[in-house]
Amino acid sequence: MRTRWMTVALLVLAGTVSAAADALFCPQLPSGLRVRPENRFYDVRPQIVPANQTSVVEIIPLHEQVVFKSGTTYELTYAPMISLPQRGGWAPGTKMSVTPENGRIRITALFEGEQEHALVLEATTGGRKRTLGQFRVYSAAEDLYALRPYKGDIHMHSHYSDGVESPAYMAGACRRAGLHFMALTDHRFYASSLKAREAFDGVPVDLRIYPGEEVHTPDNPVHIVSFGANAGITELYRTNDAVYRKEVAELAASLPETPPGVNRFQFAACRWAADRIRERNGLAMFCHPYWVTGNRHNVDEALLDHLLAAEVFDALELISGDSRDSIPANDINALQVARYAEERAKGRRVAVCGISDTHGAEVSDAFGRYFTVAFAKSLELPDLIAAIRDLRSVAVECPGGELPRSYGPFRLVRYTHFLMREVFPQHDELCFEEGRLMIQYAAGDGAAAARIALLHGQTAALYERCWSPAGPSVR
Ligand SMILES: [Zn+2]
Ligand SMILES: [Zn+2]
Repeated sequence: MRTRWMTVALLVLAGTVSAAADALFCPQLPSGLRVRPENRFYDVRPQIVPANQTSVVEIIPLHEQVVFKSGTTYELTYAPMISLPQRGGWAPGTKMSVTPENGRIRITALFEGEQEHALVLEATTGGRKRTLGQFRVYSAAEDLYALRPYKGDIHMHSHYSDGVESPAYMAGACRRAGLHFMALTDHRFYASSLKAREAFDGVPVDLRIYPGEEVHTPDNPVHIVSFGANAGITELYRTNDAVYRKEVAELAASLPETPPGVNRFQFAACRWAADRIRERNGLAMFCHPYWVTGNRHNVDEALLDHLLAAEVFDALELISGDSRDSIPANDINALQVARYAEERAKGRRVAVCGISDTHGAEVSDAFGRYFTVAFAKSLELPDLIAAIRDLRSVAVECPGGELPRSYGPFRLVRYTHFLMREVFPQHDELCFEEGRLMIQYAAGDGAAAARIALLHGQTAALYERCWSPAGPSVR
């Protein structure tokens, strides 16, 4: 996959730039993504269109080295990636002549089905033909087209538990890495995200900072992330351990028979925590079930089986970034992904998240490169929680030096990989300076606030351009 991707980049630049162009023009961003040369040199607007409708897509050169010229003829070859057009006027593989007008190429087409479409543009000047680029458009069915993809990390630590950086620093680092939303989830501590929010009070940052906590209920090995709850869980048992034990014991006594080997108290403690999180309007996530500590998985297999069978949690941490133990994250993630596939095959609902579990943004290979993409109506917390809970999310991992992979429902994985090539890289690049300025502001440079304000809304504007239909006339 990687080889083919690179071949395309080289093909596009053949004759104009050396073979080192891929490295020169596609440096990896902190998120691990790269801006393709076509998306640097041209605007393709919109890049996401409604499926089964006629849409206008424009290819707009942005720089003088790529302006369309008179005396040159231009041809487009169209290829839908999955299914052939049934109603559209284009036959795949057929070249069609296009004429730039007002410096841009305007294509009116029926984009059939939910899929990616490639538009290969060739130019012929004086008998010499060159490929200018592969421009890519995604047609999404109505339900998906109405949503927007938001990247978030909802499992990270600050120095309020065993992490390195302050909450405000972590928030800036999250934006620098291209995230739309985040939650700090310190062990047994709810206030970290609130402190990050306070640090940027009155500064128009575009990163959404939501509360979180990594919950460890007493005598229960299962780690649970509370995302977005309006209050902490730890204080419920810390202030009154006897009440916690009584409530969990009562819950355990009321449960139907559990399979052999299941520790009923531990199972009930998970139910208790998930219920308390949901009562506080939060999302309860089952953390790193195959994490290895003390040379064994931290959750016994019988308990793990039963937690998944009973669908106790709202989401599963499918991809976990952090691994400071002898067992690397890829081992843990492989088991989590295989388990997810089997649980889904049994018909169970398993919502998924990818998270970094970063304990230090500046010292972690995983930070910014392990995240969740939630397909939500908006960036508001209830919409994000609903997206994850309703199986509208995928988990992404991008280990150091590699290109990203996503896991989750097939339809969303397919869409996410388009977005990771065509939309997120430009998004992440815009975020870099915002995040850098946030870190500067957190260090006490008040003047950074005005510079952050100047950047306010730029990523929302990018989404607007990617999704909004092209106007009837030239913009
Ligand atoms: Zn943990
Ligand atoms: Zn953690």
